Amino acid sequence: MNTELEELYQQVILDHSRRPRNFGPLEGEATRVHGDNPSCGDEIHLAVRFGPDGAVEDVKFTGQGCAISQASASLMTLKLKGRPRAEAETMLNAFHDLVTKDVPEPPKQLGDLRLLQGVRKFPQRVKCAMLAWRAFEQALAQQAGEGTVSTEES
Ligand code: ZN
Repeated sequence: MNTELEELYQQVILDHSRRPRNFGPLEGEATRVHGDNPSCGDEIHLAVRFGPDGAVEDVKFTGQGCAISQASASLMTLKLKGRPRAEAETMLNAFHDLVTKDVPEPPKQLGDLRLLQGVRKFPQRVKCAMLAWRAFEQALAQQAGEGTVSTEES
C-alpha cells in the first residue's frame, strides 16, 4: 500500500467506525441475526428487511467492536440497502474473495470496501471484517426470524 492509499484507508475506517451509517434499531418486521467474533470481542446485531421479491429493502445494525468490524458493517449496509437479492449475494461473495484471496483488481462495485483488502494478510482481522457479512449471509439463509452466527464456526 502506498502512503496516500494508507491515509485514505485510515480516514475511511475511522470515519465509519466513529460515525457508523445505518446504526440503530430497525423497527417492525425484520430478519435478525446476532453475530459474534470471540477472537476480538466484536459483536453485531444485524436487522434486515427483505422485500417480497427478496430484495434488501432496509438494513441496520447495532453492536460494538474494533474499528474494522464497525467500519465494515457500516460500509456493508450502505452497499446492500436497496439491492436485489442476487446483487446482494454477488457483493457478499466479492467481499469475501477480496479479504481471503489475492484479487489484483477488486471489482469497482465494492467502492470504499476495497480499502479493506489489506486485512487479507491478517487472519484475525479477516474475522473482524467478515463479521457483519457472515451475519448477512445467515440472514439470507434464514430469510425470517432470529438467528446467530460466530466467526469461530467456519
Ligand atoms: Zn475486531
